[in-house]
Amino acid sequence: MSGDRPAGAGPSSPSTAPSFHEMWRELLPIGRHPGSGGYRRFAWTDRDAECRDWFEVQARARGLAYEVDRNGNQWAWLGDPAAGDAVVTGSHLDSVPDGGAFDGPLGVVSAFAALDELRGRGARLTKPLGIVNFGDEEGARFGLACVGSRLAAGQLTVEHAHRLTDGDGITLPRAMEAAGHDPDAIGADPERLARIGAFVELHVEQGRALDLSGDRVGIASAIWPHGRWRFDFRGEANHAGTTRLADRRDPMLPYAETVLAARREARLAGAVATFGKIAVEPNGVNAIPSLVRGWLDSRAPGQDTLDTVVGGIEKAAREYAEAHGVDLDVVRESFTPVVEFDHALRDELARILGAESDLKVPVLGTGAGHDAGILSGTVPTAMLFVRNPTGVSHSPAEFAAEDDCVAGVLALADVLEGLASR
Ligand SMILES: [Zn+2]
Repeated sequence: MSGDRPAGAGPSSPSTAPSFHEMWRELLPIGRHPGSGGYRRFAWTDRDAECRDWFEVQARARGLAYEVDRNGNQWAWLGDPAAGDAVVTGSHLDSVPDGGAFDGPLGVVSAFAALDELRGRGARLTKPLGIVNFGDEEGARFGLACVGSRLAAGQLTVEHAHRLTDGDGITLPRAMEAAGHDPDAIGADPERLARIGAFVELHVEQGRALDLSGDRVGIASAIWPHGRWRFDFRGEANHAGTTRLADRRDPMLPYAETVLAARREARLAGAVATFGKIAVEPNGVNAIPSLVRGWLDSRAPGQDTLDTVVGGIEKAAREYAEAHGVDLDVVRESFTPVVEFDHALRDELARILGAESDLKVPVLGTGAGHDAGILSGTVPTAMLFVRNPTGVSHSPAEFAAEDDCVAGVLALADVLEGLASR
Protein backbone atom coordinates (compact mmCIF):
# COMPACT_ATOMS: atom_id res chain seq x y z
CA MET A 1 0.00 0.00 0.00
CA SER A 2 1.43 3.35 -0.96
CA GLY A 3 1.57 5.95 1.77
CA ASP A 4 0.57 8.67 -0.67
CA ARG A 5 -2.89 10.11 -0.50
CA PRO A 6 -4.69 9.28 -3.72
CA ALA A 7 -5.95 12.30 -5.57
CA GLY A 8 -9.50 13.29 -4.76
CA ALA A 9 -10.05 11.47 -1.50
CA GLY A 10 -10.17 14.09 1.22
CA PRO A 11 -7.46 15.06 3.70
CA SER A 12 -5.76 11.97 5.07
CA SER A 13 -3.79 11.30 8.22
CA PRO A 14 -0.41 9.72 7.43
CA SER A 15 -1.18 6.38 9.08
CA THR A 16 -4.27 5.41 7.09
CA ALA A 17 -2.64 3.58 4.18
CA PRO A 18 -0.20 1.61 6.41
CA SER A 19 -3.01 0.74 8.82
CA PHE A 20 -5.13 -0.63 5.98
CA HIS A 21 -2.19 -2.48 4.46
CA GLU A 22 -1.16 -4.17 7.70
CA MET A 23 -4.67 -5.44 8.44
CA TRP A 24 -5.11 -6.59 4.86
CA ARG A 25 -1.85 -8.55 4.98
CA GLU A 26 -2.85 -10.29 8.24
CA LEU A 27 -6.22 -11.36 6.94
CA LEU A 28 -5.11 -12.39 3.45
CA PRO A 29 -3.75 -15.93 4.15
CA ILE A 30 -6.74 -17.08 6.26
CA GLY A 31 -8.80 -19.66 4.40
CA ARG A 32 -7.03 -19.26 1.07
CA HIS A 33 -6.86 -22.57 -0.76
CA PRO A 34 -3.32 -23.23 -2.03
CA GLY A 35 -4.57 -24.95 -5.18
CA SER A 36 -7.30 -22.59 -6.40
CA GLY A 37 -6.04 -19.39 -4.79
CA GLY A 38 -9.68 -18.79 -3.78
CA TYR A 39 -11.10 -18.34 -0.29
CA ARG A 40 -13.03 -20.98 1.63
CA ARG A 41 -14.20 -19.15 4.71
CA PHE A 42 -17.49 -20.86 5.53
CA ALA A 43 -19.71 -20.05 8.48
CA TRP A 44 -18.84 -21.67 11.81
CA THR A 45 -15.77 -23.51 10.50
CA ASP A 46 -12.20 -23.25 11.81
CA ARG A 47 -11.34 -20.78 9.05
CA ASP A 48 -14.32 -18.65 10.03
CA ALA A 49 -13.12 -18.78 13.64
CA GLU A 50 -9.70 -17.48 12.55
CA CYS A 51 -11.35 -14.55 10.78
CA ARG A 52 -13.47 -13.85 13.85
CA ASP A 53 -10.41 -14.00 16.11
CA TRP A 54 -8.77 -11.45 13.81
CA PHE A 55 -11.80 -9.15 14.24
CA GLU A 56 -11.68 -9.42 18.03
CA VAL A 57 -7.93 -8.68 18.07
CA GLN A 58 -8.48 -5.56 15.92
CA ALA A 59 -11.28 -4.36 18.20
CA ARG A 60 -9.33 -4.89 21.42
CA ALA A 61 -6.11 -3.41 19.99
CA ARG A 62 -8.07 -0.17 19.45
CA GLY A 63 -9.60 -0.20 22.93
CA LEU A 64 -13.09 -0.75 21.50
CA ALA A 65 -15.83 -2.51 23.47
CA TYR A 66 -16.19 -5.95 21.87
CA GLU A 67 -19.31 -8.11 21.84
CA VAL A 68 -20.85 -11.03 19.99
CA ASP A 69 -24.61 -10.78 19.65
CA ARG A 70 -27.12 -13.62 20.06
CA ASN A 71 -26.93 -14.40 16.34
CA GLY A 72 -23.16 -14.61 16.17
CA ASN A 73 -22.53 -11.18 14.66
CA GLN A 74 -19.44 -9.43 16.03
CA TRP A 75 -19.51 -5.79 17.13
CA ALA A 76 -16.80 -3.30 18.17
CA TRP A 77 -17.87 -0.02 19.75
CA LEU A 78 -16.33 3.39 20.23
CA GLY A 79 -18.64 5.11 22.70
CA ASP A 80 -21.65 3.55 24.40
CA PRO A 81 -24.16 2.08 21.93
CA ALA A 82 -26.86 2.32 24.59
CA ALA A 83 -26.81 6.08 23.96
CA GLY A 84 -28.60 5.32 20.66
CA ASP A 85 -28.49 6.93 17.22
CA ALA A 86 -25.23 5.08 16.61
CA VAL A 87 -23.40 5.17 13.30
CA VAL A 88 -22.36 1.65 12.27
CA THR A 89 -20.19 0.38 9.44
CA GLY A 90 -18.88 -3.05 8.50
CA SER A 91 -19.57 -6.03 6.28
CA HIS A 92 -18.72 -9.75 6.47
CA LEU A 93 -15.63 -11.97 6.53
CA ASP A 94 -17.02 -15.26 5.17
CA SER A 95 -16.75 -16.24 1.51
CA VAL A 96 -18.39 -18.23 -1.25
CA PRO A 97 -16.51 -21.41 -2.32
CA ASP A 98 -13.23 -20.21 -3.86
CA GLY A 99 -14.29 -16.60 -3.47
CA GLY A 100 -12.13 -13.51 -3.85
CA ALA A 101 -10.28 -11.60 -1.16
CA PHE A 102 -12.36 -8.40 -1.29
CA ASP A 103 -16.06 -9.32 -1.11
CA GLY A 104 -16.80 -8.67 2.56
CA PRO A 105 -13.32 -8.25 4.07
CA LEU A 106 -12.78 -4.94 2.24
CA GLY A 107 -15.71 -3.47 4.17
CA VAL A 108 -14.52 -4.75 7.55
CA VAL A 109 -10.85 -3.79 7.10
CA SER A 110 -11.90 -0.39 5.72
CA ALA A 111 -14.10 0.12 8.77
CA PHE A 112 -11.18 -0.28 11.20
CA ALA A 113 -8.91 1.77 8.90
CA ALA A 114 -11.53 4.55 8.72
CA LEU A 115 -11.65 4.61 12.51
CA ASP A 116 -7.84 4.93 12.59
CA GLU A 117 -8.13 7.73 10.05
CA LEU A 118 -10.69 9.58 12.19
CA ARG A 119 -8.50 9.23 15.26
CA GLY A 120 -5.49 10.47 13.24
CA ARG A 121 -7.53 13.51 12.19
CA GLY A 122 -8.60 14.16 15.77
CA ALA A 123 -12.24 13.95 14.67
CA ARG A 124 -14.77 14.78 17.43
CA LEU A 125 -17.65 12.34 17.24
CA THR A 126 -20.82 13.04 19.17
CA LYS A 127 -22.44 9.66 18.48
CA PRO A 128 -21.36 6.08 19.20
CA LEU A 129 -19.50 4.46 16.31
CA GLY A 130 -19.82 0.71 15.70
CA ILE A 131 -17.99 -1.77 13.48
CA VAL A 132 -19.75 -5.03 12.66
CA ASN A 133 -18.88 -8.38 11.09
CA PHE A 134 -22.13 -10.08 10.12
CA GLY A 135 -22.02 -13.87 10.33
CA ASP A 136 -22.74 -16.22 7.43
CA GLU A 137 -23.43 -13.56 4.79
CA GLU A 138 -22.70 -15.67 1.73
CA GLY A 139 -24.75 -18.70 2.77
CA ALA A 140 -22.11 -20.97 1.23
CA ARG A 141 -22.48 -23.67 3.88
CA PHE A 142 -26.19 -23.71 4.76
CA GLY A 143 -27.64 -22.42 1.48
CA LEU A 144 -29.26 -19.24 2.80
CA ALA A 145 -27.50 -15.88 2.49
CA CYS A 146 -27.28 -13.21 5.21
CA VAL A 147 -28.25 -15.53 8.07
CA GLY A 148 -26.70 -13.30 10.78
CA SER A 149 -28.44 -10.12 9.66
CA ARG A 150 -31.70 -11.88 8.72
CA LEU A 151 -31.97 -13.37 12.20
CA ALA A 152 -31.22 -10.04 13.87
CA ALA A 153 -33.77 -8.23 11.69
CA GLY A 154 -36.43 -10.89 12.31
CA GLN A 155 -36.47 -11.89 8.63
CA LEU A 156 -35.54 -15.50 9.38
CA THR A 157 -37.45 -17.49 11.95
CA VAL A 158 -35.62 -19.50 14.59
CA GLU A 159 -37.49 -22.63 13.43
CA HIS A 160 -36.28 -22.15 9.84
CA ALA A 161 -32.72 -21.39 10.98
CA HIS A 162 -32.68 -24.51 13.15
CA ARG A 163 -33.58 -26.63 10.12
CA LEU A 164 -30.73 -25.30 7.93
CA THR A 165 -28.33 -28.14 7.13
CA ASP A 166 -24.99 -28.23 5.34
CA GLY A 167 -23.84 -30.69 2.68
CA ASP A 168 -22.53 -33.08 5.34
CA GLY A 169 -25.85 -33.20 7.18
CA ILE A 170 -24.71 -30.93 10.01
CA THR A 171 -27.43 -28.54 11.12
CA LEU A 172 -26.82 -24.87 11.82
CA PRO A 173 -27.44 -25.31 15.57
CA ARG A 174 -24.90 -28.15 15.78
CA ALA A 175 -22.36 -26.11 13.79
CA MET A 176 -22.90 -23.09 16.04
CA GLU A 177 -22.55 -25.24 19.13
CA ALA A 178 -19.33 -26.82 17.84
CA ALA A 179 -17.96 -23.29 17.34
CA GLY A 180 -18.88 -22.34 20.91
CA HIS A 181 -22.03 -20.33 20.19
CA ASP A 182 -25.37 -21.02 21.88
CA PRO A 183 -27.88 -21.88 19.11
CA ASP A 184 -30.83 -21.50 21.48
CA ALA A 185 -30.06 -17.80 21.86
CA ILE A 186 -30.63 -16.91 18.19
CA GLY A 187 -33.57 -14.82 17.04
CA ALA A 188 -34.82 -11.31 16.30
CA ASP A 189 -32.84 -8.64 18.10
CA PRO A 190 -34.86 -5.43 17.74
CA GLU A 191 -33.30 -3.75 20.80
CA ARG A 192 -29.84 -4.01 19.29
CA LEU A 193 -30.89 -2.70 15.89
CA ALA A 194 -32.88 0.13 17.49
CA ARG A 195 -29.61 1.58 18.78
CA ILE A 196 -28.43 2.19 15.20
CA GLY A 197 -29.21 5.53 13.58
CA ALA A 198 -27.39 4.79 10.31
CA PHE A 199 -25.62 1.78 8.80
CA VAL A 200 -23.12 2.24 5.96
CA GLU A 201 -21.57 -0.82 4.31
CA LEU A 202 -18.52 -0.38 2.10
CA HIS A 203 -18.15 -3.15 -0.50
CA VAL A 204 -16.06 -3.95 -3.53
CA GLU A 205 -18.14 -3.32 -6.66
CA GLN A 206 -19.34 -6.56 -8.23
CA GLY A 207 -19.46 -5.21 -11.74
CA ARG A 208 -17.61 -2.70 -13.91
CA ALA A 209 -19.75 0.46 -13.67
CA LEU A 210 -17.07 2.41 -11.76
CA ASP A 211 -14.32 1.14 -14.02
CA LEU A 212 -16.29 2.28 -17.05
CA SER A 213 -17.11 5.70 -15.55
CA GLY A 214 -13.54 6.20 -14.30
CA ASP A 215 -14.54 6.70 -10.65
CA ARG A 216 -12.94 5.17 -7.56
CA VAL A 217 -16.00 5.17 -5.30
CA GLY A 218 -19.77 5.04 -5.85
CA ILE A 219 -22.94 5.16 -3.76
CA ALA A 220 -25.61 2.44 -3.99
CA SER A 221 -29.13 3.31 -5.12
CA ALA A 222 -30.91 -0.04 -4.89
CA ILE A 223 -30.41 -3.81 -4.75
CA TRP A 224 -32.27 -5.77 -7.38
CA PRO A 225 -34.89 -8.24 -6.15
CA HIS A 226 -33.33 -11.69 -6.13
CA GLY A 227 -33.94 -15.25 -5.04
CA ARG A 228 -32.93 -18.89 -5.12
CA TRP A 229 -35.11 -21.68 -6.46
CA ARG A 230 -34.47 -25.43 -6.24
CA PHE A 231 -35.51 -27.56 -9.23
CA ASP A 232 -35.82 -31.30 -8.46
CA PHE A 233 -36.04 -33.41 -11.62
CA ARG A 234 -36.89 -37.02 -10.67
CA GLY A 235 -36.55 -39.84 -13.19
CA GLU A 236 -35.43 -43.42 -12.98
CA ALA A 237 -31.92 -44.73 -12.29
CA ASN A 238 -30.76 -47.42 -14.66
CA HIS A 239 -27.72 -48.89 -16.40
CA ALA A 240 -26.03 -46.45 -18.81
CA GLY A 241 -24.99 -49.31 -21.08
CA THR A 242 -28.01 -51.58 -21.29
CA THR A 243 -31.01 -49.21 -21.12
CA ARG A 244 -32.38 -48.30 -24.56
CA LEU A 245 -32.66 -44.53 -25.09
CA ALA A 246 -36.38 -44.88 -25.71
CA ASP A 247 -36.85 -46.60 -22.35
CA ARG A 248 -35.11 -43.96 -20.27
CA ARG A 249 -36.55 -41.40 -17.88
CA ASP A 250 -33.36 -39.35 -17.64
CA PRO A 251 -33.77 -36.17 -15.54
CA MET A 252 -30.48 -34.76 -16.84
CA LEU A 253 -32.10 -33.98 -20.20
CA PRO A 254 -34.88 -31.61 -19.02
CA TYR A 255 -32.41 -30.12 -16.55
CA ALA A 256 -30.00 -29.31 -19.40
CA GLU A 257 -32.80 -27.79 -21.47
CA THR A 258 -33.92 -25.75 -18.46
CA VAL A 259 -30.41 -24.27 -18.07
CA LEU A 260 -30.63 -23.03 -21.66
CA ALA A 261 -34.17 -21.72 -21.09
CA ALA A 262 -32.93 -19.75 -18.07
CA ARG A 263 -30.31 -18.06 -20.19
CA ARG A 264 -32.85 -17.25 -22.89
CA GLU A 265 -35.50 -15.86 -20.49
CA ALA A 266 -32.95 -13.71 -18.68
CA ARG A 267 -31.47 -12.33 -21.89
CA LEU A 268 -34.88 -11.38 -23.27
CA ALA A 269 -35.84 -9.59 -20.04
CA GLY A 270 -32.59 -7.77 -19.27
CA ALA A 271 -32.20 -9.84 -16.10
CA VAL A 272 -29.75 -12.53 -14.96
CA ALA A 273 -30.38 -16.21 -14.23
CA THR A 274 -27.82 -18.83 -13.27
CA PHE A 275 -27.78 -22.52 -12.46
CA GLY A 276 -24.52 -22.59 -10.50
CA LYS A 277 -25.02 -25.62 -8.28
CA ILE A 278 -26.18 -29.11 -9.08
CA ALA A 279 -26.54 -32.40 -7.19
CA VAL A 280 -26.97 -35.69 -9.01
CA GLU A 281 -28.07 -39.08 -7.66
CA PRO A 282 -26.66 -41.66 -7.77
CA ASN A 283 -23.87 -39.58 -9.37
CA GLY A 284 -22.18 -42.45 -11.19
CA VAL A 285 -20.51 -42.21 -14.59
CA ASN A 286 -22.24 -45.36 -15.81
CA ALA A 287 -25.64 -44.69 -14.24
CA ILE A 288 -28.61 -42.80 -15.62
CA PRO A 289 -29.50 -40.37 -12.82
CA SER A 290 -32.58 -40.84 -10.68
CA LEU A 291 -32.46 -37.23 -9.47
CA VAL A 292 -30.97 -34.03 -10.80
CA ARG A 293 -31.33 -31.15 -8.37
CA GLY A 294 -30.33 -27.75 -9.75
CA TRP A 295 -30.37 -24.42 -7.95
CA LEU A 296 -31.45 -21.33 -9.88
CA ASP A 297 -30.29 -17.87 -8.82
CA SER A 298 -32.14 -15.07 -10.58
CA ARG A 299 -32.13 -11.29 -10.23
CA ALA A 300 -33.75 -8.46 -12.16
CA PRO A 301 -34.10 -4.67 -11.98
CA GLY A 302 -37.74 -4.98 -10.91
CA GLN A 303 -40.18 -7.42 -9.33
CA ASP A 304 -42.36 -7.80 -12.43
CA THR A 305 -39.35 -8.66 -14.56
CA LEU A 306 -38.10 -11.21 -12.06
CA ASP A 307 -41.55 -12.84 -11.87
CA THR A 308 -41.65 -13.05 -15.66
CA VAL A 309 -38.19 -14.59 -15.90
CA VAL A 310 -38.63 -17.19 -13.17
CA GLY A 311 -42.19 -17.98 -14.32
CA GLY A 312 -40.90 -18.50 -17.86
CA ILE A 313 -38.10 -20.78 -16.70
CA GLU A 314 -40.44 -22.87 -14.56
CA LYS A 315 -43.00 -23.20 -17.37
CA ALA A 316 -40.29 -24.37 -19.78
CA ALA A 317 -38.88 -26.79 -17.19
CA ARG A 318 -42.32 -28.38 -16.69
CA GLU A 319 -42.75 -28.87 -20.44
CA TYR A 320 -39.30 -30.43 -20.79
CA ALA A 321 -39.82 -32.66 -17.75
CA GLU A 322 -43.15 -33.92 -19.09
CA ALA A 323 -41.65 -34.62 -22.52
CA HIS A 324 -39.04 -36.86 -20.88
CA GLY A 325 -41.40 -38.59 -18.42
CA VAL A 326 -39.69 -36.89 -15.51
CA ASP A 327 -41.33 -35.40 -12.39
CA LEU A 328 -40.48 -31.86 -11.37
CA ASP A 329 -40.76 -29.99 -8.08
CA VAL A 330 -39.78 -26.34 -7.84
CA VAL A 331 -39.22 -24.81 -4.40
CA ARG A 332 -38.37 -21.17 -3.71
CA GLU A 333 -35.68 -21.42 -1.03
CA SER A 334 -35.07 -17.74 -0.45
CA PHE A 335 -36.22 -14.38 -1.75
CA THR A 336 -35.31 -10.77 -1.16
CA PRO A 337 -37.54 -8.05 -2.62
CA VAL A 338 -36.11 -4.93 -4.23
CA VAL A 339 -34.23 -2.80 -1.71
CA GLU A 340 -34.27 0.96 -2.19
CA PHE A 341 -31.65 2.43 0.10
CA ASP A 342 -32.75 5.29 2.34
CA HIS A 343 -32.95 8.30 0.03
CA ALA A 344 -32.19 10.89 2.70
CA LEU A 345 -29.10 8.98 3.86
CA ARG A 346 -27.97 8.40 0.27
CA ASP A 347 -28.28 12.13 -0.45
CA GLU A 348 -26.42 12.89 2.78
CA LEU A 349 -23.54 10.65 1.68
CA ALA A 350 -23.41 12.38 -1.69
CA ARG A 351 -23.42 15.76 0.04
CA ILE A 352 -20.64 14.78 2.46
CA LEU A 353 -18.46 13.27 -0.23
CA GLY A 354 -19.09 16.21 -2.55
CA ALA A 355 -18.14 18.71 0.15
CA GLU A 356 -15.26 16.87 1.82
CA SER A 357 -13.43 15.62 -1.25
CA ASP A 358 -13.26 16.24 -4.95
CA LEU A 359 -14.43 12.70 -5.67
CA LYS A 360 -17.20 12.36 -8.21
CA VAL A 361 -19.45 9.70 -6.70
CA PRO A 362 -21.92 8.12 -9.10
CA VAL A 363 -25.04 6.40 -7.79
CA LEU A 364 -25.31 2.74 -8.88
CA GLY A 365 -27.79 -0.12 -8.68
CA THR A 366 -26.54 -3.63 -7.98
CA GLY A 367 -27.64 -7.21 -8.55
CA ALA A 368 -25.83 -8.49 -5.44
CA GLY A 369 -27.48 -9.00 -2.06
CA HIS A 370 -25.90 -7.59 1.10
CA ASP A 371 -26.46 -7.39 4.85
CA ALA A 372 -27.14 -3.69 4.21
CA GLY A 373 -30.13 -4.74 2.12
CA ILE A 374 -31.47 -6.91 4.94
CA LEU A 375 -31.06 -4.14 7.52
CA SER A 376 -32.58 -1.48 5.26
CA GLY A 377 -36.09 -2.48 6.31
CA THR A 378 -35.27 -1.62 9.93
CA VAL A 379 -32.43 0.90 9.90
CA PRO A 380 -31.53 3.82 7.55
CA THR A 381 -28.91 2.15 5.40
CA ALA A 382 -26.48 3.12 2.64
CA MET A 383 -23.62 1.52 0.73
CA LEU A 384 -20.36 2.68 -0.78
CA PHE A 385 -18.77 0.73 -3.63
CA VAL A 386 -15.05 0.63 -4.45
CA ARG A 387 -13.93 0.17 -8.06
CA ASN A 388 -13.20 -3.38 -9.21
CA PRO A 389 -11.39 -3.17 -12.57
CA THR A 390 -12.02 -6.82 -13.44
CA GLY A 391 -15.71 -6.55 -12.63
CA VAL A 392 -15.31 -10.15 -11.42
CA SER A 393 -16.60 -11.22 -8.03
CA HIS A 394 -17.06 -14.52 -6.18
CA SER A 395 -13.80 -15.61 -7.83
CA PRO A 396 -10.08 -15.21 -7.09
CA ALA A 397 -9.97 -12.69 -9.97
CA GLU A 398 -11.95 -10.20 -7.86
CA PHE A 399 -9.73 -7.14 -7.38
CA ALA A 400 -9.40 -3.57 -6.19
CA ALA A 401 -6.24 -1.48 -6.58
CA GLU A 402 -4.47 -0.29 -3.43
CA ASP A 403 -5.06 3.39 -4.19
CA ASP A 404 -8.75 2.73 -4.73
CA CYS A 405 -8.97 0.83 -1.42
CA VAL A 406 -7.41 3.81 0.38
CA ALA A 407 -9.76 6.18 -1.45
CA GLY A 408 -12.60 3.99 -0.17
CA VAL A 409 -11.30 4.18 3.42
CA LEU A 410 -11.03 7.97 3.22
CA ALA A 411 -14.50 8.29 1.71
CA LEU A 412 -15.87 6.05 4.48
CA ALA A 413 -14.05 8.12 7.10
CA ASP A 414 -15.56 11.31 5.66
CA VAL A 415 -19.00 9.75 5.74
CA LEU A 416 -18.66 8.42 9.29
CA GLU A 417 -17.32 11.73 10.54
CA GLY A 418 -20.12 13.62 8.80
CA LEU A 419 -22.83 11.33 10.18
CA ALA A 420 -21.44 10.83 13.68
CA SER A 421 -20.69 14.48 14.42
CA ARG A 422 -23.99 15.94 13.22
ZN1 LIG B 1 -20.31 -9.33 0.19
